[in-house]
Amino acid sequence: MCIARTRRVPHTWRSPFNIDPGMIPSVSKSRSDTKTQVIDGLARLRAAFPLEQRLRDATPAVRATYAQVLAHWRRAMPPSTCAFNSNALSALVQLDAVTTDAYGLGCYPFSTHNTGMRVTLPYGTVHAMCAIDALAIARLARARTRIDAACTSCGAALAFEVEENGSLDHDQVEMARVIWQHADDIHTSASHGLCRRILFLCRACPVAQTGEHFTLPQATAIGNAFFGFQSALLAAQTGQTA
Ligand SMILES: [Zn+2]
Repeated sequence: MCIARTRRVPHTWRSPFNIDPGMIPSVSKSRSDTKTQVIDGLARLRAAFPLEQRLRDATPAVRATYAQVLAHWRRAMPPSTCAFNSNALSALVQLDAVTTDAYGLGCYPFSTHNTGMRVTLPYGTVHAMCAIDALAIARLARARTRIDAACTSCGAALAFEVEENGSLDHDQVEMARVIWQHADDIHTSASHGLCRRILFLCRACPVAQTGEHFTLPQATAIGNAFFGFQSALLAAQTGQTA
């Protein structure tokens, strides 16, 4: 059964995008280095996957449909493709803003697959596309989340909680790291390439010499910033603010 569309309000797109101070992890040691790593990591992620730019350049109708898909996921309600305008949905697939497959309709940061990164919201449980995506869902959903995942190297179980403002408490800072394994992308969809290389690593496993690695607060800040445009888009398109 198709899910009813969300209410539209007049389109007032604006890019919300600046890294506000709350998105940057607060650490007393090497604070400037920490911020630099976040800003550089964010820039590389946007270069690899310019999702915000693609949506900004899309037509109003395509953006409206995107907001409708996202609004369902934000409530942990995986939507059906039949609930949306098919032309707009095709355009979103072309942009790699949503994913369609036998499992359903995905929308970054939400995956239709069991990615091994489970995020529990007050409304239900979803899977994230990658580790950074998992950490970003709390702020997007304006809800406290629990993330259950496994170390990509040793398989150790990992669990974190992210507050509704997108922050992690200090007790969790050292629990794990996020690694980004660099590779040449041969896939057209980030869900099949980029996302599968951004993973959690437990604190006991060594970090590889290649690729990048971030602390949990750094990765959370990158995710919150990368997906920050979605909240403003939802507010503009559907009237949802939370
Ligand atoms: Zn490990």
